Amino acid sequence: MNRKNRLSICAFFRKMWPVLFAVIICVAAGCVQEAAKKDITTPTSSGNKPTEATAPPTPEIMEPDNTPTTVPTAEPTVTPTPASTQAPTPAPTSAPTVTPAPTEGQKDAKLVVIDAGHQRKGNNEKEPDGPGSSTMKAKVSSGTTGHFTGIPEYELNLIVSQKLEAILLERGYRVIMIRETHDVDISNSERAEVANKAGADAFVRIHANAHDNSDVNGCETLCQTKNNPYNGDLYAKSRKLSETILNAICDKCGCKKRSVVETDTMSGINWCKVPVTIVEMGFMTNEKEDRLMATDEYRNKLAEAIADGIDAYFASQQ
Ligand SMILES: [Zn+2]
Repeated sequence: MNRKNRLSICAFFRKMWPVLFAVIICVAAGCVQEAAKKDITTPTSSGNKPTEATAPPTPEIMEPDNTPTTVPTAEPTVTPTPASTQAPTPAPTSAPTVTPAPTEGQKDAKLVVIDAGHQRKGNNEKEPDGPGSSTMKAKVSSGTTGHFTGIPEYELNLIVSQKLEAILLERGYRVIMIRETHDVDISNSERAEVANKAGADAFVRIHANAHDNSDVNGCETLCQTKNNPYNGDLYAKSRKLSETILNAICDKCGCKKRSVVETDTMSGINWCKVPVTIVEMGFMTNEKEDRLMATDEYRNKLAEAIADGIDAYFASQQ
């Protein structure tokens, strides 16, 4: 190396030394930083500044690792299973169908079947007037009409029947109603069959009367004769039931006491296998009785009187 070369190298270093110095400083600083990082990550028990040391790494590491994990998929499959194990509990709710049967206190209660006579539209088809009989009668008629009030008998009969039902229930009887609307089609023999199948202790048929002579008035009841070929054996009971109700009505309502009419011409009586009576409350062809039977007050009296008669009948049977 000649003198010229030596001079140029020296000149180079002289010019460049600040740059070299700066590079050296930077490298040195980098080493110090590296050393400082190693110091932070290694768990030290120094404890002087724990918050600063532990805080920075946590957010960076935890977020990406945790979110994609299988946490959400596990839950939906678990939840349905407890629901299906609880399902059998609502199933036994079908049990309460037993409720129509008489309640504990009512088991000894007498059963009265009430037939509100007739229906809105009569049925002129024929049926035997008794079991095995060759005599045929119309199945059921629509009844008479109030000659002065225009009230149909089937309406009056149902109103009094429903009042009677309420009174009997209040007095602790069990009650079955043959009909509760006017728009039914139930023949007289079918009405008797309802009472038979129910095992009625008394079958009470509610009617009102009619006569060509408008002067005719008063109350009467009907039952079979003791020689009735179908149910003569029930004569005594039916006769008693007819008497007690007739007496009670005439006592309470002050109407004329006609009689207990014994007849074997009534399908609704002949088909009966239980004590039965037909109550003819009054004459709708008589002005006084027709107008009386149109009032709520008199209807209430009639219903109470019939209930009193039923009470008296059962009292006589003990
Ligand atoms: Zn009638």
